[in-house]
Amino acid sequence: MKQVVIIGSGCAGWTAALYTARANLQPLVLTGAQPGGLLTTTTTVENFPGFPDGVDGYELMTRMQKQAERFGARAQFGTVEAVDFSKRPFALMVDGEKVEARAVIIATGASHRHLGLESEAKLENKGVTYCATCDGALPAFRNKPLVVVGGGDSACEEANYLTRFGSVVHLIHRRDQLRASKIMAERTLANPKIKPVWNSVVTDVLDVAQDQVTGVRVKNVKTGAESMIDCAGLFVAIGHVPSTQLFKGQIALDQSGYIVPTQGAATNVPGVFVAGDCADHVYRQAITAAGMGCAAAIEAERFLAAQNG
Ligand SMILES: Cc1cc2nc3c(=O)[nH]c(=O)nc-3n(C[C@H](O)[C@H](O)[C@H](O)COP(=O)(O)OP(=O)(O)OC[C@H]3O[C@@H](n4cnc5c(N)ncnc54)[C@H](O)[C@@H]3O)c2cc1C
Repeated sequence: MKQVVIIGSGCAGWTAALYTARANLQPLVLTGAQPGGLLTTTTTVENFPGFPDGVDGYELMTRMQKQAERFGARAQFGTVEAVDFSKRPFALMVDGEKVEARAVIIATGASHRHLGLESEAKLENKGVTYCATCDGALPAFRNKPLVVVGGGDSACEEANYLTRFGSVVHLIHRRDQLRASKIMAERTLANPKIKPVWNSVVTDVLDVAQDQVTGVRVKNVKTGAESMIDCAGLFVAIGHVPSTQLFKGQIALDQSGYIVPTQGAATNVPGVFVAGDCADHVYRQAITAAGMGCAAAIEAERFLAAQNG
């Protein structure tokens, strides 16, 4: 039986592993289908402290893993298919095998919603992005027209943030008014650099042949009319899906499926802790996920110490 099992190997998971390993708990990290997590899908990370020249996302995650392994953390490639948190030790089914743990840290992350276009997938990281905070300041987007797709608070926040860098920000929304909170919608529409494009959807991202974003094809859903908007970047902000399906019925989730921490990193099940984007629909950054991983590890360590009397 393991002292601590960590589900997920992103920034939250490996930071939790580092702290629990240094507390001598020999954590087992279950990597899931994406070892290293979301950050392995990006090139340069410019906002993780300690790297003044930026760091490659894959390299950052490899370093996190090595650092945790140095203190005794162990990685197992595997996906958790089911959990039983109704009694302790907790039981996890990992690729058909049962793993038991006295404490569990959930760090399964979240994925962003895609538009579902072939050209969008081909141009990801070549002008198509899902995070303005992460990529907005990149040189490729400076003083260039940019496009944001979405109409909620996140899309408005991204559009406002991008006005610091882009020459103009086209905000494409499929309805005739924003879904965002009133104050956010008002601020967005009052920003002279944001140009709303109502009742419209993106039908194609150009230019796959040039291997970079040069514009988007837009269709008005009311009239059917098609038009082109030139841009250097397409920021898709139509929501995230937390990877928490498997915990349904086992642990408290909010309406959108995010895990609800009760106090700090604790959940409603004593001995189960949570960290990172699977519990965070607000910040969604590598450093916040890492910070939550640290908190979850300290909580798990205290929980186990209290159990041992
Ligand atoms: C293209 C891109 C660029 C980004 N750039 C930046 C940036 O520059 N700066 C920044 O701060 N943030 C950036 N982010 C955001 C950042 O990647 C996330 O905030 C961060 O990765 C969240 O970490 P996490 O550990 O919570 O989850 P994730 O990194 O998503 O990791 C989740 C882990 O859980 C595992 N998992 C899921 N389900 C299971 C299961 N059933 N069983 C076992 N394991 C499972 C996955 O395999 C994965 O290892 C970027 C995101 C993307 C997509």
